[in-house]
Amino acid sequence: MYQFSRSIYRELVPEVIEDRGGANRLAFLKACEAAFERLAADRHYFARPARALFRDVRIYFPISSQMRVYRVIERHMALATAYVDRALAAGRSLDGTSLTCQASTRKGAPCRRDPVPGSRYCPSHKHLEEGFATTAA
Ligand SMILES: [Zn+2]
Repeated sequence: MYQFSRSIYRELVPEVIEDRGGANRLAFLKACEAAFERLAADRHYFARPARALFRDVRIYFPISSQMRVYRVIERHMALATAYVDRALAAGRSLDGTSLTCQASTRKGAPCRRDPVPGSRYCPSHKHLEEGFATTAA
C-alpha cells in the first residue's frame, strides 16, 4: 500500500503549509500511511476512507488548497480501494497469504474454509459479516 501513500504525498506536498523543521509534511505523510494501512487491513470496516483521511490532514493545508486536496485523496483512495478489492476477490490478502474464513467453529477453533470472494467469511459464516455491517451502519 506504500505506493498509494507515496503518490498522494508527492502530489500534495508542495501545498502543505510550511513550518519549521517540516513537521506538517511529516505528519501529513504519516496520516496517509496510516490510512492506507488501515484500508488494507480493515477494508470492510473502514467506512469512507477518503473523508477520514481528509479530516486528518486538512489542517496541514491552506483553505485555498482544500478542495484540490480532497479530490486528490478521493482519486487515490478509489484506486487503492479497487486494488484491495481485487486482491480480496482473488482470495489473497495484501501480503500475499491466502485467506481463510475469519469465524470460529462451534468448538472455538478457527474456521479454515475458503471465504466467499470479496468477503471475510465462508458461505456458512457469511451471515456474521452481514450482521456486523447492519449494526455498524
Ligand atoms: Zn467459516
